[in-house]
Amino acid sequence: GVFDALSEKLQATLSDVRGHGTLTEDDIKKAMREIRLALLEADVNFKVVKEFTTTVRERCMGADVMGQLNPGQQVVKIVNEELAALMGGASAGISFSPRPPTVILMAGLQGSGKTTATAKLARHLKEEHNSSVAVAACDVYRPAAVDQLVKVGGQVGATVYEQGTDANPVDIARWALDRAKQDGKDVLIVDTAGRLHVDATLMDELVQIRAAVKPHTILLVVDAMTGQDAVNVAEQFAEAVNFDGVVMSKLDGDARGGAALSVKAVTGKPILFASTGEKLDQFERFHPDRMSQRILGMGDVMSLIEKAEAQFDEDQAKDLERKLRRNEFTLEDFLGQLKQIRKMGPLTSLLGMIPGFAGQQLKGLKVDERELDRIEAIILSMTPEERRRPELIKGSRRLRIAKGSGTNVQAVNNLVKQFGQMRKVMKQLGKGKMPDMAQLMKQ
Ligand code: GDP
Repeated sequence: GVFDALSEKLQATLSDVRGHGTLTEDDIKKAMREIRLALLEADVNFKVVKEFTTTVRERCMGADVMGQLNPGQQVVKIVNEELAALMGGASAGISFSPRPPTVILMAGLQGSGKTTATAKLARHLKEEHNSSVAVAACDVYRPAAVDQLVKVGGQVGATVYEQGTDANPVDIARWALDRAKQDGKDVLIVDTAGRLHVDATLMDELVQIRAAVKPHTILLVVDAMTGQDAVNVAEQFAEAVNFDGVVMSKLDGDARGGAALSVKAVTGKPILFASTGEKLDQFERFHPDRMSQRILGMGDVMSLIEKAEAQFDEDQAKDLERKLRRNEFTLEDFLGQLKQIRKMGPLTSLLGMIPGFAGQQLKGLKVDERELDRIEAIILSMTPEERRRPELIKGSRRLRIAKGSGTNVQAVNNLVKQFGQMRKVMKQLGKGKMPDMAQLMKQ
């Protein structure tokens, strides 16, 4: 994704800071220089970078992190909080009208991913809010846009209101709103025309459509791949139509993530949704706090630990956390946790919190609960020493374990191998790195 390079650099800097027992003012200055450079290289607006590093430095000095027991951790915490604040703080959602239909106006340049985002948002609202959704095809200038919306809108189960490409977009919008009311829709999403550049005609038409349908929310779709250009475009849109939030599209791309990091600070409008691929389900609420944690390689391990804490008592949770971080986790612990974890809910939802486990990879992953029974049986057939160092178990013992557990040698081999992989991931997590899941999936 667009944050990869930034993520790597920030993590290197912060792991360096964390490595110090104590921190001097010079250490902090050096870290701030590196952070500043990493942000500039990620194409973050230079004013935003300056403000960011100033705030972080002042907080680090103010919190007197240098005198503290774990100064590195404090710095990481501050950077994490400020990065989240930079992207908008706590995540905001769409506000619904008390009198449906809630009207959402989609704006953006041609090619920004507006039509795709319209269908994705329709899908999201259907899935997450159980809403009945209609979409209106008002992009009559790009001929393919209407057909495209009919197609993708249909795919996500939204009703598509269209009048081809000959009608006037303002009239279509007004007509679509009437129909949405008649049809008792909860939400109407209006796809508007894009242009290659911001111009007066485009803005004028948007203003007219806005007057015709009085949207509750105006979303601007911004292409993350276009960098600071995207931020300039957003600024111009903000002046002309005062939108409410941003849909940041193409976050899966390999461009630099500067736009996503600057747009809130420059326009004052938060990113509400992230679009992360061409498929219609690659779309999610944007959570600045989680994104920041992900950039810093903290992943959602935090949520995972929270969840564990809710399930285990505090000592157990601390113990688990310590073992994960120090890579002292054995098959013995695994067995104990497996039993607890199975009480916590479906395993796929837990795996989703581990950084690097992209939603896509997870979809194909089915957890067979009977498989877990077999795993338990295998571990129970091992000696304590074998549970600590499973990689050292010899062939003859593997056969005995297989027999004892009513499985076969291949199952034992698989468990040993998978546990080895898991340890590798945990070791990387402990070092604050994102595990290379692609590599792991290959095995
Ligand atoms: P519009 O002109 O703004 O309506 O743009 P479209 O919705 O047609 O999108 C333009 C192109 O970008 C299409 O090829 C989409 O498939 C692609 N696209 C849209 N959103 C994303 C995204 O989040 N990631 C990727 N990789 N491609 C996207």
